[in-house]
Amino acid sequence: MSAYDKSNVFARILRGEIPAKIIYEDDYALAFPDIAPQAPVHVLIIPKGPYTSFDDFSTSATDAEIIGFNRAVVAVAHKLGVHESGYRVLSNVGVHSGQEVPHYHVHLCGGAPLGPLLSKS
Ligand code: AMP
Repeated sequence: MSAYDKSNVFARILRGEIPAKIIYEDDYALAFPDIAPQAPVHVLIIPKGPYTSFDDFSTSATDAEIIGFNRAVVAVAHKLGVHESGYRVLSNVGVHSGQEVPHYHVHLCGGAPLGPLLSKS
């Protein structure tokens, strides 16, 4: 993927230029509801650093950022109360995945049985 684009919508949320209902924040991550939810619980969790994707983040972020971010994802699941019923964590990377926003994010979905991982087509 190309260089990080500071004008992407999640960078703008991080800078406070676009409103979002923040449901969790720490030194490494920010979480807010997806604007077009596809499950009863559908939250996006983003790292605070400028990484384009899971691929970029896992390659270039520090160990502290990677550990901190993953711990934040779990903290969000617990905060939302889906850790016992179960949930799905998913991240799109690049064109074939349909990634729309070029700032690394994971979708955390739950609140009901989610069905198959991928729809058949
Ligand atoms: P992806 O296709 O994995 O890049 O997912 C991007 C997600 O960001 C989509 O599910 C969108 O609904 C969501 N999204 C786009 N803009 C916003 C926004 N301003 N606030 C919350 N979610 C957003």
